[in-house]
Amino acid sequence: MIVTAKTMVTGDGKTVLHDHGILIKKERIAALAPIEQLKSNFPDEPVRDYGDATVLPGLIDMHVHLGYWYSKPDGYEYNQHLIAYLTQYNALSAMFNGVTTIRSVSDPHMVCQKLMQAREKGFVRAPRIFNCDRGICATGGHGWVLEDGCAQVDGADNIRSEIRKQLRDGAHWIKMMDSDRSNVSEYRQEELDAAADECHRVNRKICVHAGTQPSIQMCIDAGFDTIEHGTFMTVEQARTMKEKGLAWVPTIIAYTYIYDEMVKKIASNDTESGNVVDAGLLHDFEYFRAAAAAYKENFKKLYDTGVTVLAGTDMVMDGAPAAPVARELQYMVDYGITPTQAIATATGNSARVLGMQGQIGELVSGAIADLLVVEGDASADICALGKVKDVFQNGCVLHRAI
Ligand SMILES: [Zn+2]
Repeated sequence: MIVTAKTMVTGDGKTVLHDHGILIKKERIAALAPIEQLKSNFPDEPVRDYGDATVLPGLIDMHVHLGYWYSKPDGYEYNQHLIAYLTQYNALSAMFNGVTTIRSVSDPHMVCQKLMQAREKGFVRAPRIFNCDRGICATGGHGWVLEDGCAQVDGADNIRSEIRKQLRDGAHWIKMMDSDRSNVSEYRQEELDAAADECHRVNRKICVHAGTQPSIQMCIDAGFDTIEHGTFMTVEQARTMKEKGLAWVPTIIAYTYIYDEMVKKIASNDTESGNVVDAGLLHDFEYFRAAAAAYKENFKKLYDTGVTVLAGTDMVMDGAPAAPVARELQYMVDYGITPTQAIATATGNSARVLGMQGQIGELVSGAIADLLVVEGDASADICALGKVKDVFQNGCVLHRAI
């Protein structure tokens, strides 16, 4: 089959093609060329013409917690079965938003591995998942209350042991937690160094929740492959990350969404509806206000250092949309980069960091045909990503918006 549309954004951060087509053979992109050339070379292939739409690689969300149920007002109802249904529902919702690959950065133990197995067996539809298993936090550190979503582990040797167990059980990546809302690193430098070393010596990658100072600096020094949030990162630190080949997943939307929700609730005097936004986070109002302001003020300066930026959404609040990558990219564009650059954070850049360059995240010959088709010209208006027409995974239409 040949897929064609007026605009194609290839995912490398700069290339926008017009009047091209993609030849899909089995699950892969067999050719990408001007449409007339493809039609004359492959006259018997059916053509699906999407007209004025944009075709781009399926989106990659690098920071998702598919199985987080902790903010549900009826949390007492959630046993393992209900958590598994929720995880699958969130995965499907992400796919409807054009997300074909997810990095799950800590979830209840095994739920994402089992979802992937269910997907392989054909039981469910879901995006491709790179899975971190449980997060690893210090005793009493960020995330410790998340029951089986986090393992509390202290000391370099114990951290190494937990990492080995998680890799044994099938984790693709490891996730650490190192900061909460204060300027305190929860782990000592030697513990962070040990975690990064344990992964790297077996050729695995490791990401870390580090939003404040000095945690951000300590995690950069340890060499974590991706810094999650980096909310109060300095330009100097972004430069160091570029030099060391580390990537930044800002998750602008997570902090901005919570801040906006808080502002709305305070304005409406509705602060007792049972959601943890009200109960647990309102006392952190000042933190979220400063966080949202820091992203707005600093994003472009940090981006301009050349540090690799990746799209992640981290939406865990009850009622929040699942994996709203399009909205995260809108923030990036609002804060100063182009739509084509923003799309690369959720396609080519993320594929590279996942070790999937040439396989996903770019429209290139030989890649897996994970495609997103949206209405309008996404290279001119990033809001077009919110108007999903078709989502292809492995060369097949997985979702068609009606
Ligand atoms: Zn998170």
